[in-house]
Amino acid sequence: MPQDSALLPRYEHLYINGEWVTPIDGELVESIDPATGRPWAIAPLGGARDIDRAVEAARRAFPAWSRKPGHERAALLRRLADLFAAAIPELAVIESHDNGNLVREHRASLTAQVQWYQWFASLADKAQGTTIPIDDSVHAFTTRVPVGVVGAIIPWNAPLLATCLKVGAALAAGCTLVVKPAESTPVSALVLARLVHEAGFPPGVFNVVPGHGRTAGQRLVEHPDVDKVSFTGSTATARRMVRDGADNLKRFTFELGGKAPHILFADADIDNAINAATASAWRLTGQSCALGSRVLVERSIYDRVVEAFRERAKAVRVGLPWIDANHMGPQAHQQQLDKTLSYIQYGKEDGAELVTGGRRIDTPELAAGYFVEPTVFAGVDNGMRIARDEIFGPVASLIPFDGEDEAIAIANDTPYGLTAGLWTRDVGRAHRVSSRIEAGMVWVNTYSFLRWSTPYGGFKASGWGRENGIDALDPYLETRTTVISTTGQFPNLYV
Ligand code: NAD
Repeated sequence: MPQDSALLPRYEHLYINGEWVTPIDGELVESIDPATGRPWAIAPLGGARDIDRAVEAARRAFPAWSRKPGHERAALLRRLADLFAAAIPELAVIESHDNGNLVREHRASLTAQVQWYQWFASLADKAQGTTIPIDDSVHAFTTRVPVGVVGAIIPWNAPLLATCLKVGAALAAGCTLVVKPAESTPVSALVLARLVHEAGFPPGVFNVVPGHGRTAGQRLVEHPDVDKVSFTGSTATARRMVRDGADNLKRFTFELGGKAPHILFADADIDNAINAATASAWRLTGQSCALGSRVLVERSIYDRVVEAFRERAKAVRVGLPWIDANHMGPQAHQQQLDKTLSYIQYGKEDGAELVTGGRRIDTPELAAGYFVEPTVFAGVDNGMRIARDEIFGPVASLIPFDGEDEAIAIANDTPYGLTAGLWTRDVGRAHRVSSRIEAGMVWVNTYSFLRWSTPYGGFKASGWGRENGIDALDPYLETRTTVISTTGQFPNLYV
């Protein structure tokens, strides 16, 4: 550790069973600030035995929590929402130190997350069943019961948002949780645990064990006493989880990768379309599953759009994430920076035209961080690696097309199916095209519009199940059908 590590903020404990405990088979690590390349905090990473302790606590807490009336769970979630709102300035800075996104972007996301917690609170007493009409001899009905202990496995690109979507829904449904944040963003969920504690949730209902994927994460997936894993992360990791969870027939909800098509038809409001397409190429330094990294442009406006991207890239202020005037921060860690730079190289090797950007930023202020220029490739073919793979960097691939059918064919020619955007003034085309796109979320004449009330999740390799919406608790509930005879008569079959 460097000499000044004694001065760093220290988050040394895991949160298990309502207590702050030292990892028993984990370690303390320096969490690196991607803007400076230097440690900004000391954080705990737990191991498999820490996960075991947390699962045991969650299991013990489950019976009482699951039987607590929904309106009482709702009251606790509302208290958490209030505490969360008060902690936004602190959380935004911590989240930015951990993953490099702009503090102001985190503030906006955290402000929305308050509404998310309120939304989940409002659903907590509405997990209603149905009555099923049969005849007078039986009364048949369904009840919704919590699935049990949930493992929530969280990625580094939007840690508190991904945590909120799982924690809010699972707690509202009556499940207990073990949250495992990513190894490179371990801190913010521990601060959330402090708020959960202050809100007065019973011990064991909510536990946090940051840790490595292959140790802590895998244990959560394999653990026989974890009923369900809700995971946001890469498609490759999800495939592995399905195999690791097979022996226990683990239930999964998956929010996975994307390679969204953002389609610009020539009849669109081009200025707004370009605003959205450039924003969605570079926002969050390209580190979001939903962003439109494949920009499909109708050929008659292609040159104009390429020029607009070139000009707009020059206007992007890349810089330190705590300066509100900046537009783009660093990549979240060294591996992600390396990945982005590799894909920029693949783009050149595969014959795409590098319009602008493409380099790591080496100014004195930014050279130690993981900053990369906003990058634009033109002349991209959908078969190139930059168009096929999720890069997770600020790299836009501009792909020309002719007509609706070709736009749809290119849009759907991907293993992913999370989000898509299209711009047109023709309302008929908006319906025709959006209904043929294989994606869980299609935006027309807007992009990245997301609310607690809008179901979110992927087709194809982008996921299983949905988060948000009026049915947000579904992934955390089982349905029990009860059939009661009103007569109690049962014939002897063996006369
Ligand atoms: P990742 O899959 O590498 O890691 C995500 C989490 O899984 C981390 O906590 C990690 O420790 C854990 N993990 C890794 N291997 C594991 C294993 N074998 N068993 C159990 N846990 C394991 O993903 P990432 O690089 O952190 O996140 C980026 C990915 O997340 C991108 O693909 C992105 O598209 C996706 N993402 C999807 C959504 C969505 O809503 N669909 C949202 C955000 C991010």
